[in-house]
Amino acid sequence: MKASPFMKDSAILGYMFKRLSLIFFIFSFLINPANAAEPEVIKLADGVYGFIGKQGAANSGFVVTNEGVVVIDAQGPKDLALLLKKKIHEITDKPIVYVINTHYHGDHTYGNQYFKEAKEIISHENTQKNLIEKDKQHREQFKKFFGENALEGFELTLPTKTFKDTLTLRAGGKTMELAYLGRGHTDGDIIVYLPIERIMFGGDLLYKDRLPWLGDAYISDWIETLKALKNFDAGIYMPGHGNIGNIDMLFALQQYLVDLELEVKKHIEKGKTIDEIKKEITLPKYKNWLKYKEWLPLNAERVYKEITGK
Ligand SMILES: [Zn+2]
Repeated sequence: MKASPFMKDSAILGYMFKRLSLIFFIFSFLINPANAAEPEVIKLADGVYGFIGKQGAANSGFVVTNEGVVVIDAQGPKDLALLLKKKIHEITDKPIVYVINTHYHGDHTYGNQYFKEAKEIISHENTQKNLIEKDKQHREQFKKFFGENALEGFELTLPTKTFKDTLTLRAGGKTMELAYLGRGHTDGDIIVYLPIERIMFGGDLLYKDRLPWLGDAYISDWIETLKALKNFDAGIYMPGHGNIGNIDMLFALQQYLVDLELEVKKHIEKGKTIDEIKKEITLPKYKNWLKYKEWLPLNAERVYKEITGK
């Protein structure tokens, strides 16, 4: 990714203002009691909004431009996709012009069908490929998460425009830099960066205060991809799951992946089997993250497979 002129902004006052704005956003988010009840819309900058899933559920974003609205991740379950749409239209009556899918997982893409008026649904080429090739097993997985009836009336709605490395989307006075930085949470994760506003939508390459889901992950590659993500000078980071924050979430997740890898390696060196590792592994540093108990054994299993090839 080319260096953007915005990365070298040395106006200290501007920087401090942005930092203070971020603190204000986070603070106003934390004190709002609504955040535990249902997804909440927060304004991140002029025309830029976050839709924060409750209890670590998937996030979306949307950018209101003069031309129309760009939606970043369409949610999965019908009620959430329609709620997202409703919240957008409470803010603007402009049409949806683009949908961006940060990766193929159903909690981010299965809502595409409710945004069909968009001119394009944009994703990485592997996201489109995964939605087609993994369709059957992926629907089953989705039902495990969201219930047996979660896909009633569902129509697979694929991205219509794909790219491989980068794509700059300009719509109605807003610029969004879409970039694939390498494998990570899946083999098709992209980030959406707004260079003027210095806002990063990281998709599921970023999680905050929640264990990541590693079912499709490439852990060693992910650690490298997170390093590439540091080249952007964002003031606000929006993870795929969890609250907004600053660059610290990137370091925290990277450290979690490194710690997890090390811990699994230690167990392997002691001659432990995968079943023993799944039972015995602990990472107390992360015990307050959501899904710690449920997903740590599964996370360990994925790392084990990656290390041993078994
Ligand atoms: Zn995901």
